[in-house]
Amino acid sequence: MSKSDFDLNFQNKSVDGRIVAALERISQAFRVLLWQESKDFSLSPIQIQVIIFLLHHSDDKCKISYLADEFNMTKATISETVKTLEHKKLIQKVYEEFDNRSYTIQLTKSGNAIATQTALFSKEFHKPIAKLSNDGKENMLLSLLNIINHLNKTGVITIQRMCLSCTHHALTTNGENHFCKLLNRELLSSELRIDCPEHVLST
Ligand code: SF4
Repeated sequence: MSKSDFDLNFQNKSVDGRIVAALERISQAFRVLLWQESKDFSLSPIQIQVIIFLLHHSDDKCKISYLADEFNMTKATISETVKTLEHKKLIQKVYEEFDNRSYTIQLTKSGNAIATQTALFSKEFHKPIAKLSNDGKENMLLSLLNIINHLNKTGVITIQRMCLSCTHHALTTNGENHFCKLLNRELLSSELRIDCPEHVLST
């Protein structure tokens, strides 16, 4: 493809181009909403994203190297973010018992309170989504999962914890439905997860 999705002559003749442009607008909306939260709490958008991540993920994922991969940043950049959050007393480092170089990052009480509040920053999206039919939601979810899976496979985004990239995921014998070998049950398309705590990357 040689035409830019942002070339209006191309975009207005191409559904694909308009879908890409729409996704870009959505990502812009996320940035705007995060900035609004940032101003309220005097935190940068990445600081907010990190504390929200810490709020909802297990200790094994709350480490510098994992966070760097999660947010597609260098370890040095994420270490700076963590250092600032520590300085603001929103997180604390909890060192491993037998290795004082290794630690997990945990929210403090005030960090937890701010993370809980800011984690609602995306609520505006629910209004239009709630108006979609169940089929519309399912189609949108599947389409987005396929796009994310492609971006992950091509190395654009690093970590994914969704069913389509999980070793426990299989298709049923007719090849039409999704199955989780860990939960030992079929998954409806609308149940496919985008961030599963039990996800194991398939090789
Ligand atoms: S373990 Fe989680 S991510 Fe993996 S297939 Fe089952 S539900 Fe999906």
